[in-house]
Amino acid sequence: MSHLSYVEGAKVEVEADYVVVGSGAGGSAAAVTLARGGERVAIVEAGPWRDPEDYPYSAYGGMRDMMDDWNSLVTMGRATWPIVQARLVGGTTVVNSAIAVRTPGDVFETWREKFGVGGPAMADAVWRAQDRIERELFVSRASDAALGGSNRLALLADQRLGLEGHRMDRYIKDCVGSGQCLQGCRDKRKQSTNLNYIPEVMQRGGTVVSCAPVEKIVVERGRAEAVVGRFVHPVTRKKGAAFEVRAKKGVFIAASVTKTPILLAASGIKPKALGTRFMAHPGSGIFGFYDEIVDTNVGATQGWASVKHRLDHGIKLETLSIPLELAASRFPGGGRPLMERLREYRHCAMWIQACWAETQGKIVRGPGGKPIVRYSLEKRDLERFRVGMRLVAEMHFAAGAKAIYTGIHGFPWKIGPDDLHLIDQAPLEARNYIAVLSHLFGGAVMGNDPKTSVTDERGRVHDVPNLVVADASVMPSNIGVNPQHTIMGLATHFAELALGG
Ligand SMILES: Cc1cc2nc3c(=O)[nH]c(=O)nc-3n(C[C@H](O)[C@H](O)[C@H](O)COP(=O)(O)OP(=O)(O)OC[C@H]3O[C@@H](n4cnc5c(N)ncnc54)[C@H](O)[C@@H]3O)c2cc1C
Ligand code: SF4
Repeated sequence: MSHLSYVEGAKVEVEADYVVVGSGAGGSAAAVTLARGGERVAIVEAGPWRDPEDYPYSAYGGMRDMMDDWNSLVTMGRATWPIVQARLVGGTTVVNSAIAVRTPGDVFETWREKFGVGGPAMADAVWRAQDRIERELFVSRASDAALGGSNRLALLADQRLGLEGHRMDRYIKDCVGSGQCLQGCRDKRKQSTNLNYIPEVMQRGGTVVSCAPVEKIVVERGRAEAVVGRFVHPVTRKKGAAFEVRAKKGVFIAASVTKTPILLAASGIKPKALGTRFMAHPGSGIFGFYDEIVDTNVGATQGWASVKHRLDHGIKLETLSIPLELAASRFPGGGRPLMERLREYRHCAMWIQACWAETQGKIVRGPGGKPIVRYSLEKRDLERFRVGMRLVAEMHFAAGAKAIYTGIHGFPWKIGPDDLHLIDQAPLEARNYIAVLSHLFGGAVMGNDPKTSVTDERGRVHDVPNLVVADASVMPSNIGVNPQHTIMGLATHFAELALGG
């Protein structure tokens, strides 16, 4: 069992059967599958190892210690919306809300019809993997005691509006409802992969190399042979020793939607489709203000959801608790007026809509090798997005909110139930809305045509068969549900295929 991290001085060299780049949802699922198959695995991760005892107490600390570049990546287009991803061992599973949604059958059908991949065989393999992951990562629902005021109000709205929602299935072991998922679960209830699959890889003889951003995959005569880079200190950002991790059998790359295409390009792998088909679920929240105390920061961070409008409006509805600091960044104004608004924090709940957008963007390499994401939500998606805002607003009023704060540019601080029509008339212009992109897809997509895809349906990069893409970048379409379970299912499937399954 070994863990190598930042060092200065002489080059560090490691050898393994398989090298896995990135340790998030995709990387850890691939790594544990390969390790269980008897392979020696080295996981190479850009960020540091953090134990739950070291997780920060504040959202600010979360951005500093866990997120990629302080969450500074934004879309370049009609609006500058944050693109949120983590950088640490366990990847974004450490800071996410742990929601586990099985891949809907229509996704595999769409992939088969449009891209010549997927279909029933892939569906069976992914669902089989998801069965096992659900057992191993304790997928379950929040108890009454852990639900909290915001989720309880959403259940009430659901009952009154017939939204056919439910408590969310999450990778949790007896969630106590501390509402801190977004900065890591200090109580170790959330089953992020740094607590289970990654330690298992190490117990099975694997190595984790952390603080080690891979700069290049070395490809010789059509085979991925090694990954190279230099350690980076997690606090000072100072560069340390060079490292080289050699792969006897193959390399799995799972560096995330925004990083995998950049890394492939830096390694001289530049098929025409690289960086294309970037897609996302732009998500936006509305605050409801209630007479009673809600204490949205208490209870499961995300405990209720409805997919009733997934197919007709392309909208998923969810609760999302955010801490006071993040509410302060969302509420308008500053100084005394902002403080006055924040006095109402205990009385508010924030619920969100995630829009199943068809808009495609592009990821390109920017200065310093950082990704630039070109993305402007198109009109038909903005229409859906606006419908989603209306649905969330209706929920709040159905649950008894006296007023809501939409964050839509030009709207008053609060609007009441008689003002709902204003949302229907809000401009179809992305920059008028506050949104965040946390569910990302594409950039190195699979397909049966090398002219329009980067990998085949086993995740293997065309022309480099022992280089496998095993993260969300391989998905050729937006799947319309939370992606982690699909990413883990696909990565497991690709690893099983590499093992000869
Ligand atoms: C706040 C938030 C909440 C979310 N909630 C949910 C949820 O509840 N349910 C759900 O299904 N989805 C959720 N998501 C989305 C989900 O977490 C991601 O879709 C998923 O983690 C992506 O998996 P991945 O393997 O593609 O990338 P990641 O999990 O982001 O992992 C990529 C890893 O690669 C590392 N890396 C990047 N570049 C390099 C490099 N050059 N060398 C080495 N390592 C590198 C990164 O540091 C990172 O650790 C949420 C996302 C966010 C931001
Ligand atoms: S709500 Fe709290 S206890 Fe539950 S999983 Fe999230 S951080 Fe852990």
